[in-house]
Amino acid sequence: MKPDPGKRKQAQELVFEGLGVSPGIAIGPAHLSEVGAPTVPEFTVRKAEIPEEQARFRAALDLSRRQLRRLGHRARKMHAGAAGEELSTLLEAYTRMLTGSRLVRGVEQRIAETRINAEAAVRAEISKIARNFAELDDPYMAARADDIREAGARLIRNLTKTPLPAYSTLPRGCIILAEDLSPAETALMNPAMIGGFGTIMGGPEGHTAIVARSLGIPAVLGVTDLDISRLSPGARGALTVIVDGSGGRIVIDPTPATLADYEKKRASLRRESRRFSGLRDLRSVTRDKTDIQLYANYELPHELVLAQRNGAEGIGLLRTEFLFMNRDRPPNEDEQYESLRAIVEGMKGRPVTVRTLDVGGDKLAYSVGSDLHDSANPALGLRAIRLSLREPKMLSDQLAAILRAGAHGPVRILLPMVSTVDEVLKVQAALGAAVHRLKRRGVPIADPLPPLGVMIEVPGAALIADMLAQVADFFAIGTNDLTMYTLAIDRADERVAYLYNPLHPGVLRLIQSTVDAALRARIPVSVCGEVAGDPRYTALLLGLGVRELSMAAPSLPRVKQRVRALDIASTTLHARAIMEQIDPEEIGRMLDDLNETM
Ligand code: PEP
Ligand code: MG
Repeated sequence: MKPDPGKRKQAQELVFEGLGVSPGIAIGPAHLSEVGAPTVPEFTVRKAEIPEEQARFRAALDLSRRQLRRLGHRARKMHAGAAGEELSTLLEAYTRMLTGSRLVRGVEQRIAETRINAEAAVRAEISKIARNFAELDDPYMAARADDIREAGARLIRNLTKTPLPAYSTLPRGCIILAEDLSPAETALMNPAMIGGFGTIMGGPEGHTAIVARSLGIPAVLGVTDLDISRLSPGARGALTVIVDGSGGRIVIDPTPATLADYEKKRASLRRESRRFSGLRDLRSVTRDKTDIQLYANYELPHELVLAQRNGAEGIGLLRTEFLFMNRDRPPNEDEQYESLRAIVEGMKGRPVTVRTLDVGGDKLAYSVGSDLHDSANPALGLRAIRLSLREPKMLSDQLAAILRAGAHGPVRILLPMVSTVDEVLKVQAALGAAVHRLKRRGVPIADPLPPLGVMIEVPGAALIADMLAQVADFFAIGTNDLTMYTLAIDRADERVAYLYNPLHPGVLRLIQSTVDAALRARIPVSVCGEVAGDPRYTALLLGLGVRELSMAAPSLPRVKQRVRALDIASTTLHARAIMEQIDPEEIGRMLDDLNETM
């Protein structure tokens, strides 16, 4: 994919297909984020912290090996013949350097003996080994020195979570092309500065995709053949890139005709969004007069304004992970309280549903501890409510912060990844203790106490929704994880993205039975996964009995427009017909037909 400057424009244009995860069109100069030595912090660690520092190093090692393995699989698949062989041999060489090698032993020893942090130990060890190779004055060995530097740079990137600082210095409107971006890295992008981004890895409902949507930054993930390392270095900065987040396409060095075409599309999208802003003050009501509550999901601080501007009736899902990301230590009770209070006050009397910490899986927050990253199956491991229950102080700080924020406006507490009734009972006990403690301190708290709700996002929880409804004050159905766990499909893995389908009858049955259980127990139930914000699914969700939807704030006007075009009577009939289908593809077609006629 190296553009040839000698060819005519027409021949230079490179088009890549991927997963359009965040709609919109961005056009701007390329920024390739795979290169560049990350800045290496250097500090001493106390003796007692040595095991923790070594564990952090091992976690970065694991992650680096996993990345290399995935790149290797892809190289063999994408580049048949000699090129694929060459690339995968290289990747294997990097992997070997990260497996029980001199490098690994050397770094562990350095951390223990000189008490320096893992990044600094990696850098020191890498330069020593590379120097030894280079001194051998043999071209083969000199090339090994490059390999070891490359493997070390990957390790350091994974340890430091770079390219964090680079974003603030990029030219306005630039397009980031990267091998992979974590949710935490994506969260650092300023939508006023970054035009859009494309990555080789990543699936449609992973948290990187969700963060991109919440920022309103057009993004295409899972662009499997976007081989950044082969882009001609000289052309990099000068390349114009189009990110078509709606169509799932990246165009590098577009022809004038393509450019004009996309500029036209971008202008029309901007006109459409201006039209939508007129919906803000209209009621969210169906044609047969059923009110549908539309709430905003809150992922990052800038969304408060978006939620207000787009007429959200409250925050239906406040993901508190952002408070814990990109920092060394978890925030204490006061810090959390201050952040939550600002949001509660900003919502001016409209309810704010605060979810307790949901790290783990693809959402990592290093401030919470490194053993989270050790699991062979992070999505099935120590995450979300399981982690909170194992760290009682962290849970109690968070509950106390929410209770205190509740003195400034209505709040609700929501528990992620619940799979048993017992987990809810344990949190009820922790909540009781936090209330007691705060009252003794004489601190004002929510009065009445906030409702305690449960995310239904584990199939086992959906299957016992009637039992959970006895102990929960409300349900929020997390269709992202519910789909992932029901179908055993990693929501952030582009290779199996074609199987990720919330319209699978297995997923729909779990949604249906959860809604029924909530209605029978007379507790509110909302859907807060990504389907809630996609107008394609609105008719089906209303037909299944859902009356509350929570979504990324930019989606609110579009979904409201859809709600106002529907009537409950006919969505119910159509949902019944859909629930009798076996084939997810057929369900998709029926839904599209319904959306065309209503
Ligand atoms: C979900 O799983 O659907 C959900 C809303 O939670 P998150 O996307 O934060 O995991
Ligand atoms: Mg979830």
